Amino acid sequence: MATFDNILSRLKDIQAIEGLSDEAVALLSAPKRMATAELEVDGKTYPAWRIVFNDACGPGKGGIRFHPDVCEDEVKSLSFWMAVKNSLAGLPYGGGKGGVKFDPKTTDKATIEKISRKYVGAFHEVLGQDIDIPAPDVYTNGQIMSWMLDEFEKIKGRHEPGMITGKPLELGGSALRGDATARGGYIVIKEMAQRILGADKGLKVAIQGFGNAGLHITRMLAADGFSVVAASDSQGGIYNPEGLDVAKLVESKEQGIPVGDYASGQKISNQELLELPVDILILAALENQITAANADKVQARCIVELANGPIDYAADKILFSKKIMVVPDILANSGGVIVSYFEWCQNRTGNILDDAYLTDLLYKKMKGSWEAVYAKQQEKPDQIDLRSAAYIIALNRILAAEKYRGHLS
Ligand code: GLU
Repeated sequence: MATFDNILSRLKDIQAIEGLSDEAVALLSAPKRMATAELEVDGKTYPAWRIVFNDACGPGKGGIRFHPDVCEDEVKSLSFWMAVKNSLAGLPYGGGKGGVKFDPKTTDKATIEKISRKYVGAFHEVLGQDIDIPAPDVYTNGQIMSWMLDEFEKIKGRHEPGMITGKPLELGGSALRGDATARGGYIVIKEMAQRILGADKGLKVAIQGFGNAGLHITRMLAADGFSVVAASDSQGGIYNPEGLDVAKLVESKEQGIPVGDYASGQKISNQELLELPVDILILAALENQITAANADKVQARCIVELANGPIDYAADKILFSKKIMVVPDILANSGGVIVSYFEWCQNRTGNILDDAYLTDLLYKKMKGSWEAVYAKQQEKPDQIDLRSAAYIIALNRILAAEKYRGHLS
């Protein structure tokens, strides 16, 4: 099943719960703008996309992914999730996403720079601080954002730092951006642990994915008394039911040693990690990790989606019937784009806001989103999961904006 088909199935469910019109569902089922290109670099071509799913609430906003599996179905799905994520967070944005299909792990830096600049060359007409604003995503970072900003400003002949977020501090970035996704996720995990699991110390946690979000959340939870018993990266994982030494694990990963090769603990596969008996399973890798094929085997009490789309539609149903609570991506990982919004505001006004103030604002926004989603789910706890509750809030906002604009009867 294509990833976007999962989205269409979820929309049908929301239509039934909320009594949405067919016209409204049709509007939410198709992207507003799909731009594609073949980027030519040193005789090779790289397929690339930039898609804005919806822009009723503001310009497109969302990351750019460099990955060998990037395809139109994936970028379209990711752009839909950005639209609902931004709406749920109450940000003045629509949703967008981009991607280039290649493996940055096996590509040299000079080529990655050329691909980044070509990307902007191909899409500059549909990018801009009031049009569509990219940011980092899987395997992209502040350096890549810097090359893209530089190329954009060269083409336009003016400065416009708000055209892209996730930049280094020197180019107008935010000090909070580096670990913002994990920081936001941590706030939600604490709320969820206290409310649902009745504790927040000593809980056993397994973490799939050790990129930006996975590594930082591991560090934060371990520092706060959670017991991180398992972790993995794309090559495999490690398990110790007594708890891993997280400081040493992070140090070894930062030295380039894969998580599965960390010295103390039992080697496990990514699949095995998903099936461990833990209190909280954190999914911080890629899409479609829990599907009908393995959802039945999940033993975690709660799952938190720090990646986008790690649980598919069929698995959602199985997990709900097993009473496993899932904190959905559009809530759990929204800290990244919320801090992008802070960066964008500063770039536009030229004001530099205090980091302590922004940290507090992030906390308030994450807590507010969690409370709104949980309260909505508690209206019909036997019928809807947290994802449906989050979608109801977010999609109704987008539809209200479309109605005010006169795009919907
Ligand atoms: N790529 C991140 C996400 O999926 C951040 C997007 C942004 O900051 O615009 O939410």
